[in-house]
Amino acid sequence: MLSVDALDLKPKFNWDETLAPHWTIGEEGAHRRLENFIHSGLAHYKEGRNLPAKPFVSRLSPHLRFGEISPNQVWYAATSQGDGKDIDHFCSELGWREFSYSLLYHNPDLATVNLQKKFDGFPWSGDLAALTAWQKGDTGVPMVDAGMRELWQTGFMHNRVRMITGSFLIKNLLLDWRHGERWFWDTLVDADPASNSASWQWVAGCGADAAPYFRIFNPVTQGQKFDPDGDYVRRYVPELSALPNKYIFNPWEAPADLLREANVELGVTYPKPIINIKASRERALAAFKALSQGA
Ligand SMILES: Cc1cc2nc3c(=O)[nH]c(=O)nc-3n(C[C@H](O)[C@H](O)[C@H](O)COP(=O)(O)OP(=O)(O)OC[C@H]3O[C@@H](n4cnc5c(N)ncnc54)[C@H](O)[C@@H]3O)c2cc1C
Repeated sequence: MLSVDALDLKPKFNWDETLAPHWTIGEEGAHRRLENFIHSGLAHYKEGRNLPAKPFVSRLSPHLRFGEISPNQVWYAATSQGDGKDIDHFCSELGWREFSYSLLYHNPDLATVNLQKKFDGFPWSGDLAALTAWQKGDTGVPMVDAGMRELWQTGFMHNRVRMITGSFLIKNLLLDWRHGERWFWDTLVDADPASNSASWQWVAGCGADAAPYFRIFNPVTQGQKFDPDGDYVRRYVPELSALPNKYIFNPWEAPADLLREANVELGVTYPKPIINIKASRERALAAFKALSQGA
């Protein structure tokens, strides 16, 4: 009879190797993370929460998702520090989580069914090659690629970048938000049936209290505003790291000699953008406008 060892069932590689340093699973890890955040992140939260390169968000989401800490414990730890805009804003984000759960309770098929029925006839593109490029962080748009690679490598993605990558998928690539919901569901360590579905519907504009259709994030200006030193992009898209800040979010606009000096060859060392940001924005605006006018 064959022994278990002889079956050689051990995984050939440790798929969780790159995720492990970012999430100490369990109650103890959750409380340590909360303490760190209370002491070093909370006081900078309101503005700092938008900067993906900075450590000003709590990263408590996987702990909350799996019940390793409760929202009540987090709420009271924050409010016991006093009051002020940072604490208020942090608590309001916990409120979004509760709101998502309320939406899921009343709409059990939130992950698949548009809350706003008029979106049922939306003319989504079926470009699956673009979907693969988005999933792999190979779109040629650095801020989007940095986010998708952070997700793949760590199981986490900063909230600001979730909104940027989500908007890019839905509005620039015109791909159905459910593709994004499913990918995040498969890859996030905090993948949550309520927050994930509600947030994707919010980005698409078909959810409750959703972002209006004309709110289309420009991944270049978002990068310039929220990653002004390019640190986040350089961390996850190292092949662009020698580019100056002026072109780190839009390498396709860099002069040829500058690209050469930075060892960047578009289409070879880093992809050319798979879509024209301006033209795809216009296409999305036209499609969403037609929908809102009932065309
Ligand atoms: C497209 C998209 C998909 C998302 N999918 C998920 C998901 O699967 N699971 C998940 O927990 N969050 C999701 N979010 C919400 C948000 O991005 C994460 O909760 C947040 O980035 C987690 O990081 P943090 O713990 O450092 O958050 P902090 O900013 O420190 O906030 C503290 C806690 O508040 C809650 N929270 C914060 N922002 C939101 C929000 N917008 N909606 C609901 N709850 C929020 C989370 O539980 C979070 O841990 C998604 C957002 C978008 C735009």
